[in-house]
Amino acid sequence: MDDVRIKMQTVPGEVRKHDFKPFLLGYAKEEAIQEAKRCLNCPIPRCQAACPINNDIPKFIQKIVEDDLEAAYKIIRAKSSQSEICGTVCPHEDQCEGGCVKGIKGDSIAIGSLERYISKWARENGIDTGDKASDKGKKVACIGSGPASLACAEELAIQGYKVSIIEKETFLGGVLTWGIPSYRLEREAVDHKIEVLKDLGVDFITDTQIDDLAKVRADYDAVFLGTGAPNSNLMGIPGEDLKGVYHADVFLTKINMLPLDEEGKRVWEGCGKKVVVVGGGNVAMDAARNAIRQPQTEEVTIVYRRTENEMPACKEELDHAKEEGIIFATLRNPVEFIGEDGSLKEVVCAVMELGEPDSSGRRRPVETEKRFRIEADTVVLALGFSNDKTIGANTDDLDTDKWGCFLIDEEGRTSAKGVYAGGDAVTGAATVVKAMAAGIKAARTIIEDLK
Ligand code: SF4
Repeated sequence: MDDVRIKMQTVPGEVRKHDFKPFLLGYAKEEAIQEAKRCLNCPIPRCQAACPINNDIPKFIQKIVEDDLEAAYKIIRAKSSQSEICGTVCPHEDQCEGGCVKGIKGDSIAIGSLERYISKWARENGIDTGDKASDKGKKVACIGSGPASLACAEELAIQGYKVSIIEKETFLGGVLTWGIPSYRLEREAVDHKIEVLKDLGVDFITDTQIDDLAKVRADYDAVFLGTGAPNSNLMGIPGEDLKGVYHADVFLTKINMLPLDEEGKRVWEGCGKKVVVVGGGNVAMDAARNAIRQPQTEEVTIVYRRTENEMPACKEELDHAKEEGIIFATLRNPVEFIGEDGSLKEVVCAVMELGEPDSSGRRRPVETEKRFRIEADTVVLALGFSNDKTIGANTDDLDTDKWGCFLIDEEGRTSAKGVYAGGDAVTGAATVVKAMAAGIKAARTIIEDLK
């Protein structure tokens, strides 16, 4: 029998590029069992060692083989409170699947797809966290409602702490909602998580910006900062202020927060006909794929300063973007945006070459004299995200680094007494699973410190 990975069913690129409906159709039960049977149940599982939360991967996969889905879910849930989200959006090829021994000579086990299958099954069958401990009489505030805060709040609420999540936006979920499009991550997965927290007694306070911690520290026994890395990085080149030039956080929010129409579309007239997305990560792929789904948009080009081999985006995300007709212009880097009457008309790029490897190990892009021009009425800058420095600047005893990231000890404590932090607000933009793990770790430290 051929030992090839069972691929998840997907909606073809030509069909899905017209709407925002989820396109990952997932496994049927027989497919999940067939894929699980490929696992060797290794005595020293390299997959588990490569998982940021050390999930007991072979054990949950064997439970799928035995057709005991509830037991499989409970094994995953012991380490992960956001497994459906992580199973869908985490870069498995760089984590568990990258460690899988089967990947050395062939196809690694589709661990992410199996995790997603089990977790979605658990959600649809009403299986979740189990019992809540008795009331501890202590209050904790979690600032921000992204994956780190949700994980911290859930862990605390299960252990009997009264938790308030304080969110500056009108909507909940942070980057899971404004950043990750609904065709990639089903909104039901995020909504379900929020409902689970509400059932555990967590309060959600929206439209509330926290600029300094004085009041919140006075009102609560502990404070967790899960404020993420919400601000797009800039290029600093001429024409960046032209109409039609957007930062990725703004562009994604404008589209992702529109309601779905009856055809499953989110149509935003601010997106033009010819779109250029600058960057090579998953955010660039999301921005390009949001743009191609706009009925008025004719062409979307991703401009990246290295080659496809160095792109930080997951291979899967790259393939999905190509299947939807996104054009890739690699070894190109914008040096100027040209406008007419204040509106963007053209992107001038320097043609790049690859030089020696830099500190990241990737070959350094070197600018040449040659220029390359692309007609465009919309540009999206997807060059990574940085932290909001406001809370750090307004809180004397809270130490941050030069990028505004909160400095913490190994257990999640900041320099400010009773204040903890985790996720992108500490590390800079990273993965959902790492943010979730940091939220859980900080919650356990809070529990110890409040005893
Ligand atoms: Fe299964 Fe691969 Fe993990 Fe081995 S390394 S237990 S084959 S998933």
